[in-house]
Amino acid sequence: MRVGVSEKFSSAHYIPGHWKCGEIHGHNFKVEVEVEGELKNGMVIDFYDLKKELKEVLKEFDHKLINNVIENPTSENICIEIFNRLKERGLNIVKVRVYESDDKWAELRKDDLNR
Ligand SMILES: [Zn+2]
Repeated sequence: MRVGVSEKFSSAHYIPGHWKCGEIHGHNFKVEVEVEGELKNGMVIDFYDLKKELKEVLKEFDHKLINNVIENPTSENICIEIFNRLKERGLNIVKVRVYESDDKWAELRKDDLNR
């Protein structure tokens, strides 16, 4: 079974060499995360614990210039970085979706990695 949480963060970035996004600008990002697992006491994972892990990962990005963390911080690369950091924390992440605005998002699924 799968459960998910979402969190928001606000950051600046620029896309080196991009005609429009090459200047520093900001976004209010939204991140959706899904984990999969067997039920233990009726839960895949405590929402509180999942949110805590996600918040700790996003702390590295919030109110920062993301270029200092990721060389080419496109939404796709931010998504991959968040996916990997959550995975390193031992979570069975099956999906991360990063919205850089209401109508633009990038998504990585665990299945994508096995192709
Ligand atoms: Zn941007």
